[in-house]
Amino acid sequence: MPNEALFQQALSFFIQRAGRTPTVAAFAPGRVEVLGNHTDYNEGFVLSAAIDRGTFFLAAPRTDGRCRLSDAVHPDLQSEFPAANPSPIKNQESWTNYVRGVWALLAPPERATGFDGVIAGDIPLGAGLSSSAALEISAAIAFRDIFGLKTDPLELARIGQAAEHRYAGVKCGLLDQVTSLFGQLDHLVETDFRSLNVRRPPFPANARLIVCNTGVKHQLVESAYNERRTHCEEAAAWFRARLPHPVSALRDVSMAEWEQWAAQMPPILAKRSAHVIGENERVVKGVQFLREGRLDRFGRLMFESHASSRYNFQNSCPALDFLVERAQRLPGVLGARLSGGGFGGSVVVLAETPRAESIATALRRSAEMEFGRTLDPLILRPSEGARPFPLPLRSK
Ligand code: ADP
Ligand code: MG
Repeated sequence: MPNEALFQQALSFFIQRAGRTPTVAAFAPGRVEVLGNHTDYNEGFVLSAAIDRGTFFLAAPRTDGRCRLSDAVHPDLQSEFPAANPSPIKNQESWTNYVRGVWALLAPPERATGFDGVIAGDIPLGAGLSSSAALEISAAIAFRDIFGLKTDPLELARIGQAAEHRYAGVKCGLLDQVTSLFGQLDHLVETDFRSLNVRRPPFPANARLIVCNTGVKHQLVESAYNERRTHCEEAAAWFRARLPHPVSALRDVSMAEWEQWAAQMPPILAKRSAHVIGENERVVKGVQFLREGRLDRFGRLMFESHASSRYNFQNSCPALDFLVERAQRLPGVLGARLSGGGFGGSVVVLAETPRAESIATALRRSAEMEFGRTLDPLILRPSEGARPFPLPLRSK
């Protein structure tokens, strides 16, 4: 369930800032990536889950050509921008770029006369849990409803992604937006990023996900994320020039083909492609293990995934490696790996339900001793996806 107290805080803040009540509200969750890392933009497969933390977006239309946005959790964050063709900004208001982008791409130009908007979120920022997609998608649903549009969820996901590319400068895949939109209580989201076909296999009742934020901020824009994406494109082009069948993305290359050619590839491209190709195969196997109830085998794939991130894709970091290694030694832990883009952010642990609390406590203690700071592991079940959030009747 989304945080009702946070919603009330956002509502009071909106009334105080805008001097009226909002006409629409939306909630979009963050997400955790369970298996399949950096595979989305390689047209591959991912298993992910929406989490019960996310972002509320409350809004009401304006008619004066102004967009006014503020954050109920950080009241000093506020920004005003023009309703017509807002441009991305590079200063302390850059958090609004996600919303500027969604507005520019979604609002019908003839009716885009502005809005008052308030956000309130409880996802730690830059923790690999996709606060950025939660912000984009909550804004997208609120704007869709302001204009009474019928935009379907996949199109909303694409708009969120395009906003992140063009306004925030991160060339992300579609994973975060799709998971935020398609999440389902107690189900994983299994996405084929070529066909954009989404399935939702049940998440086992006897397991929990424990998400541990290292507190190491990944800085996707400046970091190696875009560089990794380029490596993947170069590796796909390398195989395209040599394999006898079409290769439009690394999705089209099998591990057998990789093994045949790896020694001849530039070493960096061999490592990057081993990760993506291996991850795709792990997701396919993982879905099968889930279906057969073989959670231990599924968990082993998570450990393999982390090792591949660490050595092949080099998108791990010492704090992530420490938590995965620590988790691996705890009874009741089935698997653990980094979740999301990497270079910091969070670890996701698959745990037997009865031991989830003690595992979380052990991880908290170890992290305190190792990093000298407090860490707050979240014990989660997959949650429901993004949706309009009902406003109390009196505020309409
Ligand atoms: P992640 O998506 O993993 O949290 P990103 O770097 O992709 O990390 O996105 C984090 C950025 O999104 C923040 O630095 C901020 O600019 C913006 N953001 C997202 N949610 C909020 C929020 N609730 N309040 C303020 N800024 C937010
Ligand atoms: Mg993000």
